[in-house]
Amino acid sequence: MHDIIVIGAGPAGLTSALYGLRADKSVLVLEKETFGGQITFSPKVENYPSLMQVSGNEFAEMLLDQVMAHGADIEMATAQKIEKKGGYLTVVTDQGAFDGKTVIIAAGSKHRHLGIDREEEFIGEGVSYCAVCDGAFYNGRDVAVIGGGNTALQEAVMLSEYCRKVYVIQNLATMTGEGRLVAKLTEKENVSFIFNSVVTELIGGEKLEAIKIRNTEDNTDTELKLDGIFVAIGQVPENAPFADVADLNDYGYIDATEDCLTKTEGVFVAGDCRSKRVRQITTATGDGAVAALAACRYIDSL
Ligand SMILES: Cc1cc2nc3c(=O)[nH]c(=O)nc-3n(C[C@H](O)[C@H](O)[C@H](O)COP(=O)(O)OP(=O)(O)OC[C@H]3O[C@@H](n4cnc5c(N)ncnc54)[C@H](O)[C@@H]3O)c2cc1C
Repeated sequence: MHDIIVIGAGPAGLTSALYGLRADKSVLVLEKETFGGQITFSPKVENYPSLMQVSGNEFAEMLLDQVMAHGADIEMATAQKIEKKGGYLTVVTDQGAFDGKTVIIAAGSKHRHLGIDREEEFIGEGVSYCAVCDGAFYNGRDVAVIGGGNTALQEAVMLSEYCRKVYVIQNLATMTGEGRLVAKLTEKENVSFIFNSVVTELIGGEKLEAIKIRNTEDNTDTELKLDGIFVAIGQVPENAPFADVADLNDYGYIDATEDCLTKTEGVFVAGDCRSKRVRQITTATGDGAVAALAACRYIDSL
């Protein structure tokens, strides 16, 4: 039996593990895919305090090394369910069941992808899912934001401050985000809205150079030359396996208290899978620390 079982080895989960281990608790980290989580897809991270510039992979490696040095147990396994059994919790995985006094869910979320050819190949080379993270790399360049909701519009406002040209490409006839954001963008000379259109092709050599969009009203195709696209068509949390022990909001994120506690005693949540506004490494690691210290207090009270 471990004191703390952490589900997910992204920045939130690994930080939880670090704080748990430093409080002398035994910690098991379960990861289904990639140690380091989403940030491993980022070629450059320039907004983590104290690190001028580091690749997502380097960041993940340093964090994993730190956690391993403190003696974490690690298993490659997919958590499928959390069961409460009397005084302890069992995490059922595809590799067997693991018992713990507490569980920290740090399963992250995924940016919804366009699902078209070459999308994965161009990530970091013209395709981004986060203007806060990557916008600065496109200073003075031409970009498009794909999507018409609040996230897309906010990203377009931000990018319009320093990009030469910003297209906002929406598959519907209107933007679905707030009117005041639409009004703000309408006033900008370097912003153009393109409605009823979907991206059908990504064009380029090693880097993205242009996109093809199809007007869904008249089925005509247009090629737009640009340096980058920011895909903002939503995020998908992967919290379905935890719905028995945690309340999920309308978008599938886990609701929690300020201490990152879910509705089930001993089950905590940290990082991008939690309902909150800002999803960044800083907020993920912050949650990781808060959840782990709350879990330690709970264990000490048993
Ligand atoms: C391309 C890209 C660039 C980015 N750039 C920046 C940046 O420059 N700066 C910044 O601050 N943020 C950036 N972000 C955002 C940042 O990566 C996330 O906010 C951060 O990784 C969230 O950490 P997390 O630990 O909560 O979740 P994640 O990183 O998503 O980690 C969750 C982990 O849980 C695992 N998991 C999920 N379900 C299960 C399960 N059932 N069982 C076991 N394991 C499971 C997943 O495989 C994953 O490894 C970027 C994101 C992307 C995609």
